[in-house]
Amino acid sequence: MDYKLPVGAFEQQPRTPFYYYDLKLLDDTLSSIREHSAYPGYKVHYAVKANANPIILKRIADAGFGADVVSGGELSAAINAGFTNDTIVYAGVGKADWEIELALNKNIACLNVESMAELEVIEEICHRMGKSVCVALRVNPNVDAHTHHYITTGLSENKFGIDIEKLDEIIARCQNSDCIKLKGLHFHIGSQITETTPFENLCKRINEIQDKYNEKGIYFETINVGGGLGINYDDPEAEPIPDFKSYFETFNKHLNLREGQELHFELGRSVVCQCGSLITKVLYVKNGVVKNFVIVDAGFSDLIRPALYQAHHKIENLTGHGGSEKYDVVGPICESSDCFGEQETLPVTHRGDLIAIRSAGAYGEIMASQYNCRQLPDVLAK
Ligand SMILES: *Cc1c(COP(=O)(O)O)cnc(C)c1O
Repeated sequence: MDYKLPVGAFEQQPRTPFYYYDLKLLDDTLSSIREHSAYPGYKVHYAVKANANPIILKRIADAGFGADVVSGGELSAAINAGFTNDTIVYAGVGKADWEIELALNKNIACLNVESMAELEVIEEICHRMGKSVCVALRVNPNVDAHTHHYITTGLSENKFGIDIEKLDEIIARCQNSDCIKLKGLHFHIGSQITETTPFENLCKRINEIQDKYNEKGIYFETINVGGGLGINYDDPEAEPIPDFKSYFETFNKHLNLREGQELHFELGRSVVCQCGSLITKVLYVKNGVVKNFVIVDAGFSDLIRPALYQAHHKIENLTGHGGSEKYDVVGPICESSDCFGEQETLPVTHRGDLIAIRSAGAYGEIMASQYNCRQLPDVLAK
C-alpha cells in the first residue's frame, strides 16, 4: 500500500508550515491494530498526549478505541471528541485536585495512581464528593526500555510509578478503603521501543508480580502494559504501519493472563506518527564556507523532537528537480538547536521548494509553541 504525499494540494495551501495528516493511513493503522489485538480481554486505549488534534481524536474515538489521558485538559479533549467515559483511563505523576475532581465527576474507568501521597488525596476528595473510584496502581517494574533516556520511564531512578517494595503497603491501603476499588496494575516502561526484548522482560516481571500476589489471595481484574511501541523514522515508506502483529503476539506469548482478566494497552506514537508530516517552505539557501544551509520556515516551535531528544526525522524535498547536494536543514529560530538535519542529501534546493519532515504525527503538533512569538502551525487533514 502506497501513501503518497499530495504535493498538488500542498502547493495550494496558503500558509506554511503546516501539519499534513493522511487520514487513510490513520484508518488503515487503526484497522491493523484492531485486527492484531483481537485476543480475548485485550483493549487498546489511545494515548491522547501523542496528538490531540480534534480531527484525529474523533477518528480514533469513532473507531471504537478507549483513551489514555494524562491531564484534565486531555480528559476534556477526549470527552469532547466522543470517547465514552467508561473507556478513559487517567495516568500522571502529578494530578492536581481539580483534575481528580473532574475525573470523579466524569466517572471515568480508572485512575492510575503513582504514589501513596496521591492515593490519600484521592481518598480525601472522594469523601468530600461522596464518590467512589476504581484505581490501578502504576508500578515501576525496573525494566530497561533501551531507548533515549528522556523517554525511559520504567527504571527505579525515574520519577514514575510505585517501587515494587512499596506495593504491599499501598495495596493494603486500597483494601481498607471505603471508596477506592483496586482494579489492577499499570506499567509503562518508555517510548519509541523498537525491540521486543523490553516488552518480553516487562511480561516476565508482571508474571512474577502476579504470582506473588495471587499466592497471597490478591487478584487483579486488569493489567495495563502502557504504550511505547516504536516506529521507523528512517524509512517511513517501508513501514507506514508498525508491526502490530509481532507486538501483540509478544504479549500473548509471554504474559500469563488470569481467567477473565483484561489486558490494556496505551498506544500513542505507533497509532498516529506515520500519518503526519510537517510541510515547510524553503526561505533561503545559504552557501557557507564549510557547509550549505537550507533555511526553512518551520522551526522547533513547530516540531521540537530534534531539538529536545536529538531525534531525526526523514527530510524530503517534494518539489526539487534533480541533482544532489548536502545541506544542513535549519529553522529560523534564534537557537543553534533549531536544526532538523545535518548533512542531509537532497536534490539541489531552491527558495520556494516544499520540504516534508516525515513521521511527525506524534509529539509534533501537540508540542508546538509560540516561541519567538511565532504562529502555531496550520493543519491539513485529508
Ligand atoms: C506517553 C504514555 C503512553 C504512550 O506512549 P507511546 O510511546 O506514545 O506509545 C502510554 N501510557 C502512559 C502512561 C504514557 O505516559
